Amino acid sequence: MTVYSLTAHELHEKLKSKEISARELARAVLDRIEQLEPKVKAYLTVTAEQAMEKAAEVDRRIARGEELRPLEGIPMALKDNLCTEGIKTTCGSQILHNFVPPYSATVVEKLDREGAILLGKLNMDEFAMGSSNENSSFYPTRNPWDLERAPGGSSGGAAAAVAADEAVFTLGSDTGGSIRQPAAFCGVVGLKPTYGRVSRYGLVAFASSLDQIGPITKDVKDCALVLQAIAGHDDKDSTSADVPVPDYTEVLGKDIKGMRIGIPKEYFAEGLDSGVKEKIEAAIKQLQELGAVCEETSLPHTEYALPAYYLVAPAEASSNLARYDGVRYGFRDTEAQDVISMFRSTRSKGFGPEVKRRIMIGTYALSSGYYDAYYLKALKVRTLIRRDFDRAFAKYDAIVTPTSPNVAFRIGEKIGDPLSMYLSDLYTIPVNMAGLPAISLSCGFSEGMPVGLQIIGKPFDESTVLQIAYQYEQSTLHHQARPALEVR
Ligand code: GLN
Repeated sequence: MTVYSLTAHELHEKLKSKEISARELARAVLDRIEQLEPKVKAYLTVTAEQAMEKAAEVDRRIARGEELRPLEGIPMALKDNLCTEGIKTTCGSQILHNFVPPYSATVVEKLDREGAILLGKLNMDEFAMGSSNENSSFYPTRNPWDLERAPGGSSGGAAAAVAADEAVFTLGSDTGGSIRQPAAFCGVVGLKPTYGRVSRYGLVAFASSLDQIGPITKDVKDCALVLQAIAGHDDKDSTSADVPVPDYTEVLGKDIKGMRIGIPKEYFAEGLDSGVKEKIEAAIKQLQELGAVCEETSLPHTEYALPAYYLVAPAEASSNLARYDGVRYGFRDTEAQDVISMFRSTRSKGFGPEVKRRIMIGTYALSSGYYDAYYLKALKVRTLIRRDFDRAFAKYDAIVTPTSPNVAFRIGEKIGDPLSMYLSDLYTIPVNMAGLPAISLSCGFSEGMPVGLQIIGKPFDESTVLQIAYQYEQSTLHHQARPALEVR
């Protein structure tokens, strides 16, 4: 196997034993990027020079005999809504096409301190609104398993880069499924941590009560290692929780005998593709083989999660995006004659159609006379959804569902029909509404495309989620499948 295909924990051993140098490794992945980007288009910015300098630094530390931390020297990349000091951060939007942040997100600083090597910034749906990457105002990313299909979204670049071996791991963000759905579509591992587990400082805000940053990796062990590096309280984010961070690798390899897993019947109803259903049922059987007790349960308010999300998320977005006015950040329409028309034309030209749709829905839902009927009601529904999960978790250690009702669809197939696009996140959105941790990992293929299995945990119980995921992964090895991307 070529070095760029290896996981972070495998590469760590090779760096430690001096079988490869950090520079050789960074070079190998940068070459891979150069070869594949014309096809995959996962990156918006590649920071090759800085990456090579950083790799040389790591090699000097290795030469001095310093102890190598788990992610030290590992090439990785970041979704382009994570602020990187001195490196363009566009959020997939024209309105930030030239924005260079003066500071880095907390997660970026943490990974930097761990010695991970940043290769660049990844494509995404504009302001993380979308499920296919087609809302990127630059170009759509393609699914490495079938270049005619979408990689999912909004962290499509982040998932595609890992699947195509153009990064060892990446960070994405998940407001309604944007880590898990693309991870499912691209056959990689994606984890949305509990709301508050990871600092959001320096993440460009979409819907602040839902947004959470998390890892996208080639296997579950890497997922645990990256979460370890980014989790924890941060004084700069008042919503980051002061809850101790356990050792996430400790549970890997522990059996799941007797563990109780709920299977909510609402996630197997109308809309679920039959090929996906088959794979999820096989995965549930496998969990039973491993000793878990799987039982049908009910989350009765599931059907209201999507409509409630499409009020709460746009409402928060309409407020968060008010700051893009051409004065402080990014693009400004300089042809406007006065300040009011400058605001108007900057926003008209700077935002794409989906972002405008969300701003309009959100502004409407928050306006007086409609606030109680829409926004407030959506918040009440959100409480009911959380209570469904609370009740289930009184009985179960985890909940297992499909990640998405279908496998990756074709580029162009859903972009004209927002509602059918929104339905991609049917099974991921309730988790954000309830603030819970959930992972997606591959459980095989349907139509030649990867199928994602979602494991949902109790608040701050990422450990159980990782434990189950690891047992499943190691007993099936679906994660070892690789897309055939011919390189000439
Ligand atoms: N696809 C969903 C949306 O468009 C979720 C996006 C996300 O999680 N950032 O809102």
